[in-house]
Amino acid sequence: MIVEMRKGATTAEVDAVVERAKNLDLDVQLNLGTDKTVVAVLGSNTGQLPIDTFAVLPGVESVARIMKPYKLASREFKDTSTIIDVDGIQIGGDRVVVIAGPCAVESEEQLFQAARTVKEAGATFLRGGAFKPRTSPFSFQGLEKAGLEMLTSAKAQTGLPIVTEVIDPQDVNLVAKHADILQIGARNMQNFSLLTKIGKTNAPVVLKRAFSCTVTEWLTAADYLLAGGNSKVILCERGIRTFEDSARFSLDMCSIPIVKKFSHLPVIVDPSHAAGHFSLVPSLARAALAAGADGLLIEVHPNPKEALVDGLQSLTPSDFARLMKELEIIARALGRHI
Ligand code: PEP
Ligand code: MN
Repeated sequence: MIVEMRKGATTAEVDAVVERAKNLDLDVQLNLGTDKTVVAVLGSNTGQLPIDTFAVLPGVESVARIMKPYKLASREFKDTSTIIDVDGIQIGGDRVVVIAGPCAVESEEQLFQAARTVKEAGATFLRGGAFKPRTSPFSFQGLEKAGLEMLTSAKAQTGLPIVTEVIDPQDVNLVAKHADILQIGARNMQNFSLLTKIGKTNAPVVLKRAFSCTVTEWLTAADYLLAGGNSKVILCERGIRTFEDSARFSLDMCSIPIVKKFSHLPVIVDPSHAAGHFSLVPSLARAALAAGADGLLIEVHPNPKEALVDGLQSLTPSDFARLMKELEIIARALGRHI
């Protein structure tokens, strides 16, 4: 239930709404907008609650039920687009961010070389997995803690902030020490204990869309993060399963404007995992940017042929540099910049 306060409602009036919700054993989240406050009243039984429970209180402008399963990620709760500040880099505004780097951290040499080349080409963030969620238990699982330390050294060398995945709720605090943005992978989008744990931190987080989940399920998963008080949620479309098997996944371009329409959260696109093949990545990246994505996540490896993970979809440094030039032109045409 969304309780919209009147413009200029007093703190005492907002407190009275919160108090009534708490007395009914309900949770609340406040959206302190510039000219009015919106109170989301959350709980499994709000459907049975009469609108008047809150409508009669002084300072209340209107009360509405959100019929969608997701609440805090919705534009009904917050109608202005969220801009997330990560160390002075704004995600969701005019700037388009590019997160680039290898699928997995493999060695210092590999990571540092990748970091230097993506930085030179103009990337905003360095990515690299230290904990890898692999389909097979016999595949390379990542360098774990040693990989995190290499990411921290690569940041010290290049100044590029780090995006890296966390797969286990027990590792959230450890990974957050090394990451500027935590990544929740597609396979963990509905790992509710992981979402709840990250929701209780203040760490910026990229939530990838699971490849068999709808946009509604994705936004409802984002609510787990937001409900814990973490407002720094960035969505990432990375392709879904369809009958089509000529690419690794089908990149759902529709989800970009759909997310923008129904949610205030920024959305970025990962063309690499959707494509599964380096030759498809540039056109998907260009299209995603043109469709309104707030950023891109692109796998780049200094030597894709030797990559331990996802070599086939990784761009070489020179292909990445060429793509960045094209992306800059598209961003500029849209009144944005990288
Ligand atoms: C990745 O970013 O390397 C990754 C494993 O992606 P996804 O979770 O989208 O498959
Ligand atoms: Mn990968």
